Amino acid sequence: MTLNQAKIMVVDDSRLARASLEELLRREGYHDITQMDSGQAAADHLGLDKTRTPSNRRPDLILLDIVMEGLDGIGLCQRLKAHQDLRHVPVIMLTAQADSESLRQAFQAGAMDYVTKPHREVDLALRVRSALTLKAEIDRRKAREAELVEVTQKMVALNRKLRLLSNLDGLTGISNRRFFDEAFQREWRRALRQGHPLGVLMIDIDHFKAYNDYFGHAQGDECLKQVARCLLEGLRRPGDLLARYGGEEFVVVLADTDQQGALVVAEGLRQAVERLGLPQAGSCPAQVVTVSIGAAAALPQEGQAEHDLLAQADRALYRAKALSRNRVTCSWTTLTLSRGERGES
Ligand code: GH3
Ligand code: MG
Ligand code: MG
Repeated sequence: MTLNQAKIMVVDDSRLARASLEELLRREGYHDITQMDSGQAAADHLGLDKTRTPSNRRPDLILLDIVMEGLDGIGLCQRLKAHQDLRHVPVIMLTAQADSESLRQAFQAGAMDYVTKPHREVDLALRVRSALTLKAEIDRRKAREAELVEVTQKMVALNRKLRLLSNLDGLTGISNRRFFDEAFQREWRRALRQGHPLGVLMIDIDHFKAYNDYFGHAQGDECLKQVARCLLEGLRRPGDLLARYGGEEFVVVLADTDQQGALVVAEGLRQAVERLGLPQAGSCPAQVVTVSIGAAAALPQEGQAEHDLLAQADRALYRAKALSRNRVTCSWTTLTLSRGERGES
């Protein structure tokens, strides 16, 4: 606001006093003036008994007579200063010269300044101007504070989003390698503490190079997304974590899962991907996109490295590949029957 646009309220029970104040204020260039003929009328207008005051009813300055019938200037000032929307509005008290005790009370109640009655025009004009200058500064500061709060809130939300994004794989939307590394360590330590087994699956898409060569890289990306979604849907327990390990390789951590359990989950995932029925490149023996899975599980022991378990799953995956793919193997046995053994053609 420019100073001349300020909203000024004059509260005085003398009609004459109000009229002379308003006339002076108008001469000084202020036009938005509201007159109130009692403390109670002002309290009602400002909505002092409500928690909020609409912004168009908040004055920038109040000229307040001390001595009034009913709610007097001191009482009104106290209530103003206790209201969350009005406590920053400067109050200039209007008082008879000899009235020093009530002046003390007025300052105690939160008044900013006073003018003696009958007022000297120059005094009043100067005090009004300096009170309004102060109010403008308070408003500016409050606006800056509000802006700062807003910016801070935005930054907190953005940081949270960034942290989340930095844990996700950009293509598939599942957890990335970085998140996996941390989560795997955490799960390993938890399993060690609780004496629970921990399962790991290494999953690799079969003949994916041929798929890319045949369908193109964009279609390859699409295939990766669909396989990722299928694997995610195939995991049911909240303790299961799927991540993209790199390229066309995925990894699953299965909390509280032993070798038998890991094999069951792995076989379920293998079948789910096969059932997706994504057409494979013509040059491949398989007609649909399939995955090979290496499974491993262990009861973590003190002094054992968690990477041994990953290496075990990786070796199992290598064996699955060597054994013609689309199968689950673990370090001690192979589970999935080959097509011929399953009686398929
Ligand atoms: P195998 O059955 O032995 O796993 O054979 P493969 O062809 O799947 O394995 P290889 O490691 O030879 O090839 C992996 C291919 O995966 C090669 C690479 O271009 C492709 N690939 C890796 N990451 C991406 C990706 O983000 N998008 C696409 N479209 N292809 C990828
Ligand atoms: Mg592959
Ligand atoms: Mg690979």
